[in-house]
Amino acid sequence: MKLAVIGTGYVGLVSAVCFAELGHTVVGMDIDREKVKMLKSGKSPIYEPELEELLERNLRTGRLSFTADMREALPGCSVVFSAVATPPNADFTADLRAVFAVTEAVATIAEGNLVFVNKSTVPVGTGKKCEEIIAKILKQRGVSFQVPVVSNPEFLREGHAVHDTMQPDRIIVGMNGDDQSSKLEARSCLEEIYHPLTRTQKPIIWMKRESAEIVKYASNAFLATKISFINMMSELCEATGGSVRDVARGMGMDDRIGPRFLHAGIGYGGSCFPKDVKALIALGREVGVSLPIVEATHTVNQHQRERFFKKILATLPKGATVAVWGLSFKPRTDDMREAPSLDLIPMLRKAGHAVRVHDPVAMENAKKLVDVSVVFCDAPMEAAKTADAVIVLTEWDAFRGADLKELKTTMKGSLLFDGRNIYEPEEAKGAGLQYYGIGV
Ligand code: NAD
Repeated sequence: MKLAVIGTGYVGLVSAVCFAELGHTVVGMDIDREKVKMLKSGKSPIYEPELEELLERNLRTGRLSFTADMREALPGCSVVFSAVATPPNADFTADLRAVFAVTEAVATIAEGNLVFVNKSTVPVGTGKKCEEIIAKILKQRGVSFQVPVVSNPEFLREGHAVHDTMQPDRIIVGMNGDDQSSKLEARSCLEEIYHPLTRTQKPIIWMKRESAEIVKYASNAFLATKISFINMMSELCEATGGSVRDVARGMGMDDRIGPRFLHAGIGYGGSCFPKDVKALIALGREVGVSLPIVEATHTVNQHQRERFFKKILATLPKGATVAVWGLSFKPRTDDMREAPSLDLIPMLRKAGHAVRVHDPVAMENAKKLVDVSVVFCDAPMEAAKTADAVIVLTEWDAFRGADLKELKTTMKGSLLFDGRNIYEPEEAKGAGLQYYGIGV
């Protein structure tokens, strides 16, 4: 089947490449011409394990191509996936301008029946608005093409995006519409696209479009709540002498709770959890439904980050040199959106501390976002040289495996702030380091 994927960011690019790998003919379209140029040459604009290899292979086979022109992307396509960004507005509602711009462009350019699939995370009711935009434009054009609007939210995790796309836990598809024929056509298109993935017993779960739109926000808010819950317990542990690691282990062994998303740290960041939690709160307010658990999740997350940063600032000696290990919001990605490093580094600089940083893949992106005085180092130990303190902000494997005795001899001082609880406090103390973890 021939497909177009509009927006070639973390979601769109991975989807386009994986659809091509599954045997479909895919055109990726993006308004960012530089990105398209890079993609055409087989270079991935983002770091994501396995992605570039699949990109090159599928470009070579001719199943995958890229364009910056929607008019080149649509001809011959039965299905158009929209995967454009939906960043937060100032009031935390989702900015849907790109989604609607794509909807309008598709309706204006379509040369026949098409299935329009929204992969972006959008508030409930967006599919209906897209449907109205399309109906209006088709009417103005005087054509009667069938363009059903389907919701197919994405659940991939950055850092595991190819794996998650090729081996999804489930595929959610939401569609409405009274016109049975276009609904059936949309359903059979989606079945055909995802057929190779559903053979492994992972089902497509069909539902109303409104339900599909809510599933995405509900899933992210629930996972974020688990993180905030254990972070809240970490503060209780610090106040009472408990260890949040033991508490999490004890809770996680209960099958009803499970161990995942139960690691205390400096809170969630990234392009999804913060924005989706806040957008859900905004949506609740808009429709007059109070969502107190979601609001508390956000409040606890902010508090957790602030209280760790306060502890760091209160402990550092005057005019310290600080090594920050990890810049991206989580390991295995170069994504800097809502990364804790972007909050902490300016605070450290403002307090008069010198900052040296290392990240295995996010340094190029970070250079555009932080103060020019920050020193970028090629290795973690290089960053630690002359440092009074090391602060771990991202749990990259390279940091987990660090030799703490070597770290102590490399540093000038001995302060170790472990924002991700990756070290054993006893081992750090044994290496001569003054250890500050979370909830321990
Ligand atoms: P992104 O910012 O990485 O990519 C968006 C792309 O869309 C960019 O390349 C941009 O140039 C392009 N674009 C913007 N306007 C366009 C237009 N009018 N026409 C064509 N292209 C346009 O965003 P992302 O992280 O891939 O997220 C996309 C959507 O998927 C968001 O709604 C996000 O919430 C959701 N999502 C993201 C993740 C994730 O881990 N990043 C996971 C699940 C869902």
